[in-house]
Amino acid sequence: MQILVAIGIVFLALSLWPIRRIIQLVRGGSLRRQWIALGVLIVGFIIGYAAFLAVRPSGGPTLITLIVETILFGGSIFVFIVTRLSLTTTTDVVRIASLERDALVDPLTGVFNRRYLTMKLDEEVSRARREGHPLATLMFDVDHFKHVNDVYGHAIGDIVLRHISSLLVQKARLSDTVIRYGGEEFVIIAPNSSEAEAAALGMRLIEEIAMAPVSLPDGETLSVTASGGAAALPTQGTAEMMLRDADHALYRAKREGRNRLLAASQPS
Ligand code: GH3
Ligand code: MG
Ligand code: MG
Repeated sequence: MQILVAIGIVFLALSLWPIRRIIQLVRGGSLRRQWIALGVLIVGFIIGYAAFLAVRPSGGPTLITLIVETILFGGSIFVFIVTRLSLTTTTDVVRIASLERDALVDPLTGVFNRRYLTMKLDEEVSRARREGHPLATLMFDVDHFKHVNDVYGHAIGDIVLRHISSLLVQKARLSDTVIRYGGEEFVIIAPNSSEAEAAALGMRLIEEIAMAPVSLPDGETLSVTASGGAAALPTQGTAEMMLRDADHALYRAKREGRNRLLAASQPS
């Protein structure tokens, strides 16, 4: 019955393949370390099985060797099935996570989309109320963007949008969330910020946009500007009110000449 233990060694060795795949799929963190530890443990089992075969008393099977060999065989099948199932589960989880992410990210710019804005605002408004912190929103709109598309073409317009979104992501704080709100409109959710603090950040970003021309594929550069509005969460108000206030401030910034940012409570 040594054959059972030899087959067990084969199943244990086969279990290392799904573990290797799982380790590749689980990027970093303690989960990855635990799967590596499990892989090492299985190698230890293989050595143990081989050692058992080497020291097993020769001659016919006794009741005790029969029981041990059956248990070792069953154990290896168990490990094989569990690792296969774990690989299937991990693959599914990774796929679902990537689909969920895709549903919340704008494919052109790589920043979050409007669907994420609704979720994130709900979360941030609850947190701001619970912890008694301020919350503010910035809204940006690229100036005369239709003109950019008309003169340079839609593909260059797309490059401009990618340039502006990456500038916003780079220059905003780590705790801020950059969202593509619509065509050439972007929103930044700024937790722990008053209207004045958000407006200061927004003005800096408007200046950055104006000062950093877009590099075009033909080696030329193109200067664009944007306008913005800043608003804080009203004491008794909702996220929708804050967005509406930021939008009104943005509208005023456009009327007052563009390439500027106004705060909602700031007089014109
Ligand atoms: P304003 O200064 O008043 O904001 O003028 P504007 O021209 O920027 O505003 P308008 O709303 O007239 O034009 C927005 C343009 O944005 C029109 C639309 O074709 C363009 N647009 C929307 N989404 C995209 C996109 O994904 N890529 C490109 N290239 N253009 C887009
Ligand atoms: Mg617009
Ligand atoms: Mg515009």
